[in-house]
Amino acid sequence: MPDPVSTSGQIVVLSGPSGSGKTTIVNRLIAESPVGLLKSVSATTRAPRPQEKDGEDYYFLSDSQFRTRLENDEFLEHAEVFSSGFLYGTLRTELNRAWQQECWAFLEIDVEGALNVMQQYPDAVTIFLKTPSPEEFERRLRARGTETEDVIRKRLATAAKELQFADRYRHIVVNDQLDQAVTEICEILKSEETKNNA
Ligand code: 5GP
Repeated sequence: MPDPVSTSGQIVVLSGPSGSGKTTIVNRLIAESPVGLLKSVSATTRAPRPQEKDGEDYYFLSDSQFRTRLENDEFLEHAEVFSSGFLYGTLRTELNRAWQQECWAFLEIDVEGALNVMQQYPDAVTIFLKTPSPEEFERRLRARGTETEDVIRKRLATAAKELQFADRYRHIVVNDQLDQAVTEICEILKSEETKNNA
């Protein structure tokens, strides 16, 4: 296993309930961040959604492919997300891919994965994205109209559980207004960069 002390680059972790406007924020940050961010492409055992491309949105793996890579210690972290039975994980090679391009590795992962990364990389910049209220979160989740009732219920339960870990993150940002949340995260990244260079 690589020695965390030999970190040659920075890691940014963003977590928050699905339906908190995370995807839009991620895309805006990639385009507007004051530091170069490279989005880590996660591996997952869930099936691709329409429009999703292998190697771009995720590396789509079978259960046995995922487990083989797990046994070979290829993952920085992994978790079963939303009690869905599907596995998600960050391949260590994704960190190097970012660092080789002199970018910060940008991980959009769940709380379990984030806690795992914090242990291995205590200097990682961790950001928890919160919705203004549980009611607003449920409204946004339903407004997407892409999930079944069962999935929505699981996601609400996961979100409530994840919220309890928000204070373990270095920064908490409320996604009330999209522009404001993006600006706030950009400011966090800028100040972390200044700290790094001090
Ligand atoms: P979706 O199935 O909607 O694409 O993703 C569901 C959730 O899985 C995301 O919101 C994200 O929090 C989590 N996730 C995606 N990739 C990873 C990963 O590599 N590791 C972990 N721990 N969670 C992930």
